[in-house]
Amino acid sequence: MSKEIVIISGKGGTGKTTLTSSFAYLMNDKIIVDADADAADMYILMNPKVKSKNLFKGNSPAKIDTDKCTKCDKCRELCRFGAISVINGNYVVNEMKCDSCALCKYVCPADAITMVDTISGEWYESDTPYGIMVHAKLYPGAENSGNLVTMVKHRAHILSEEKGIEHILVDGSPGIGCPVISTISGADFVVIVTEPTQSGIHDLKRVKKLCDSFKVKSGVVVNKYDLNKQMAHNIEKFTDENGSMFLGNIPFDQNVSYAIVRKEIPYVACDKIKAPIESIFNKSMEQL
Ligand code: SF4
Ligand code: SF4
Repeated sequence: MSKEIVIISGKGGTGKTTLTSSFAYLMNDKIIVDADADAADMYILMNPKVKSKNLFKGNSPAKIDTDKCTKCDKCRELCRFGAISVINGNYVVNEMKCDSCALCKYVCPADAITMVDTISGEWYESDTPYGIMVHAKLYPGAENSGNLVTMVKHRAHILSEEKGIEHILVDGSPGIGCPVISTISGADFVVIVTEPTQSGIHDLKRVKKLCDSFKVKSGVVVNKYDLNKQMAHNIEKFTDENGSMFLGNIPFDQNVSYAIVRKEIPYVACDKIKAPIESIFNKSMEQL
């Protein structure tokens, strides 16, 4: 069974892609999963050549057939997301609020409600210079759902079994929402990337709590640590005292953003971050 390592951060823009792309460069024998469909950085850096394209069915909101509806009000009364309202005398579903739980469909005595499949994006299997990559693109307005993450991860596991590949490297979504929960679930090790700021430590605590609740081992990396060494030290102390492994610091390097703009992996393009990233990579791999 392949081992899964996931890289996440409490919020976007903390250097998660810098680290994930570097791991993709350094790691042998792996499948790369881009579970952060909202940000295209990883896609740009991996330069994938698409081999297969598939449609992704997102949430299926409820739809009410007004001809069949007898206006009994049961659905509106029971929908705990407040997604059903009466407009101009007709019962209608607000798709933005609908959670696709299908409760209304089951309670409707007139069989007036159906769940409508919605295509909300595409997912791909691609070849990259660094190995096979499974990734997704959401259509405008669609949300990165936990289902999408579960689906791309599941596909990566099937491929790893078929091809005898040892590792799965996942670039997770930022935050602590539904996609992140799906990203962490089933992981063997989670690398949390943070920055030496007050909000960085706050986000770290939330993400760490999430990992603990899923009983997944985690390690912490402070990116741009030298912008506030005292805060970086506080994060290291918090990590040691709270059952995570401190994996290391990465210094600030202006060239990282230039490299990303040039579509180059920062590890390859920026000498200053090479040794720290190698050390973080080696420590992370020891945890698998
Ligand atoms: S599917 Fe669930 S969330 Fe959506 S309208 Fe029906 S009861 Fe409400
Ligand atoms: S439960 Fe069915 S019949 Fe009753 S108001 Fe809702 S859609 Fe109409």
